[in-house]
Amino acid sequence: MTSRAFVSLIGAGPGDPGLLTLRGAQALAQADVVLFDYLANPELLRHCPQAETIYVGKKGFSEYISQEQITALVVHKAQENGGQRVARLKGGDVFVFGRGGEEAEACVEAGVPFEIVPGVTSAIAAPAYAGIPVTHREAARSFAVLTGNTKEGGAHYERLSGVDTLLLLMGVRNLGQIAADLIAAGRDPQTPAATVQWGTTPQQRVAVGTLATIADVVREAGLEAPAVTVVGEVVRLRDTLRWFDLASTRGGSLAGRTVAVTRTRDGSSGLSDLLRAGGADVLEVPLIRFAPTGDEAALHARLRDLSGVAWLLLTSNQAVTELFLHLNKLGLDARHLAGVRIAAVGPSTARSLEAQGVRADFVPSTPGARHLGAELPAAAGDVTLHLTSQLAEAELGEALAARGLGYERAELYRTEPAQPTENAMQRLKAAAAVTLASGSAARHLAALASADFDPLDLPVAAMGPQTADAAREAGFTRVTVARTASLESLVEAAGEAATLSP
Ligand code: SAH
Repeated sequence: MTSRAFVSLIGAGPGDPGLLTLRGAQALAQADVVLFDYLANPELLRHCPQAETIYVGKKGFSEYISQEQITALVVHKAQENGGQRVARLKGGDVFVFGRGGEEAEACVEAGVPFEIVPGVTSAIAAPAYAGIPVTHREAARSFAVLTGNTKEGGAHYERLSGVDTLLLLMGVRNLGQIAADLIAAGRDPQTPAATVQWGTTPQQRVAVGTLATIADVVREAGLEAPAVTVVGEVVRLRDTLRWFDLASTRGGSLAGRTVAVTRTRDGSSGLSDLLRAGGADVLEVPLIRFAPTGDEAALHARLRDLSGVAWLLLTSNQAVTELFLHLNKLGLDARHLAGVRIAAVGPSTARSLEAQGVRADFVPSTPGARHLGAELPAAAGDVTLHLTSQLAEAELGEALAARGLGYERAELYRTEPAQPTENAMQRLKAAAAVTLASGSAARHLAALASADFDPLDLPVAAMGPQTADAAREAGFTRVTVARTASLESLVEAAGEAATLSP
């Protein structure tokens, strides 16, 4: 058997989670283990819910871990368990000052096959999000990326004298010295300069000066690492091209603040996108995970013989996935369902069915178990079979029973509480607001309580009055309710909730 051992060295992009490449997302989805560092946005981990995740940042919430240890760990994880797929997520691009070369060399030495997935480097992206193009027909025809983390100093800078734009990484702490060295090496002290901190993220901040003043300007503004400093005429273009950090200077209530989006099912990321558009720093917190049914024998017996069942009821995407997984285990396929009619709770579940080659016979006009129960076009005496998790709410069965229809339920999978990562917990504690899309999200969030964290202190924004009631019942006191059941209203409610937090 050939070993599965494989390492993907992936550039995670500069911070905005939308700047991961498609190839990077694909490699994450296939990974058994993901090692991510300080500058790789932890939000990217939603591309790999299946994987073991290990934080190897040199800053933040873990013990100090050296580059040598990380390199060894990458190889070790690839070889563990008879060979695993490792995704190594590195901030920006893999080979721009990321020591990615060393990690690749270690793979070669250990005989572990690998790939490089280049990323969007902060050297170019941070200036771009500050409205500064690194080249421009009129202003600059070349650029160089340099590190401020070197002892070489002046001599090194003289060799750069013909380069129009300089992009300085890891240079905030030594900025005064570096600027002085550049001036000594012949660069005009009046050259415009800008420093971009946390570029492409909601925390992006920019300070602008000249080569002579930039160190002071940066210190006065309180900017620190991680930051990119741009030196060159192109900096002037920010006056006209500034775009991304406009919203936050206007002071939207979500700008630069962390909003946690709790998720209890595989839903759309539409809410996160809207929040981000409002300037929020979004933290997605999955509160549940799916587990196999506790009684597979009973489930298989139920599925094997569907005679007498008029309707199969599917109320989540997960149910569709699990149904076909179990049919497959039984050596069956979609043809086994030929004799029954199938209802989906909403368009998203119907789409999952279609992806399996099955068209839903019925989808209610408004998504939801209650509507499905009220509108299902079943005939008197029909038996319905609801394939669902052990947590299915009683509404659907009650609505059908009230109409005199037979209702049977089979446990297709289980829904269990998920424990957020340590990293996510830290950010959750500091969230300005938390969105709740359902009562069960409220209950699961409350259940995260521990000795040093009381989730009930968090301001929450509820999707509707029912969810708000469930939240209050669970013990939340700072509850804001969306005015209508739309994502836009929920974002607005999150903004209001955030004003309740310090
Ligand atoms: N491989 C990375 C660079 C790693 S070196 C890349 O291609 O971007 C780490 C340095 O990158 C930081 O000190 C800082 O100078 C820069 N950096 C990374 N992310 C940044 C961001 N979002 N905003 C500004 N600078 C960033």
